[in-house]
Amino acid sequence: MTNIILLGPPGAGKGTQARRLVEERGLVQLSTGDMLREAKDSGTEMGKIVADVMARGDLVTDEIVIGLIEEKLDGEKVGGFIFDGFPRTLAQADALGALLARKGETLDAVIEMRVDDAALVDRISGRFTCGACGEVYHDTTKPTKIEGTCDECGSTDLKRRADDNAESLRQRLMEYYKKTSPLIGYYYHAGNLATVDGLAAIDDVAKSVAAVLDR
Ligand code: ADP
Ligand code: ADP
Ligand code: ZN
Repeated sequence: MTNIILLGPPGAGKGTQARRLVEERGLVQLSTGDMLREAKDSGTEMGKIVADVMARGDLVTDEIVIGLIEEKLDGEKVGGFIFDGFPRTLAQADALGALLARKGETLDAVIEMRVDDAALVDRISGRFTCGACGEVYHDTTKPTKIEGTCDECGSTDLKRRADDNAESLRQRLMEYYKKTSPLIGYYYHAGNLATVDGLAAIDDVAKSVAAVLDR
């Protein structure tokens, strides 16, 4: 099994690379952001609790996101998981380690995608996704071939995230540097950190990620 974490600030390209790995390597993407948005959109109790927190750009409690991940890990056996946007705190990292150990599994790589803040503003402000298949696009760096239509599935339900605005991004970046960036040291010490240049073009980032996984 191959279990990997994609670590990086909002807009670093985690979701984009995770989707490629799903396609190319048959791994399963576990995005806590996607799970929380689903809960919010379907109006569950948990969704109602997290909606305001997410809109502000704060982190949802460890308890909630660890619970979501635990549920998925207990599902059927797969070739491996890509953790996208999880863990985001040291407590989440510890919990993930414990969950994997309990299943007799290991964490094979933690890939830090390094991108500077100026680029993140551009990334986030141009981001839109397909509501039907989840494909991630960008106004300038990854536009759809036909305007308003998803290349992958033909849907015209393309949407922008409510929290992809300048104010929320500032808060999300602050949360990243305060609470998530310590994980870089945590995994460096654990010996499984690899850093890739997230500023490169999408295909080149994919090559760097593949090089880490095939090392
Ligand atoms: P991005 O793509 O910008 O990195 P995500 O889709 O991963 O953002 O997350 C969106 C929001 O969901 C976060 O701002 C946060 O409120 C919440 N969230 C997602 N994952 C976690 C997590 N592991 N821990 C706490 N909050 C989370
Ligand atoms: P994250 O999941 O880390 O928040 P996304 O994968 O959603 O990031 O990417 C954020 C935005 O940047 C999207 O609009 C995506 O199309 C675009 N993007 C992702 N990777 C790159 C890249 N290497 N170069 C240029 N744009 C990119
Ligand atoms: Zn689509």
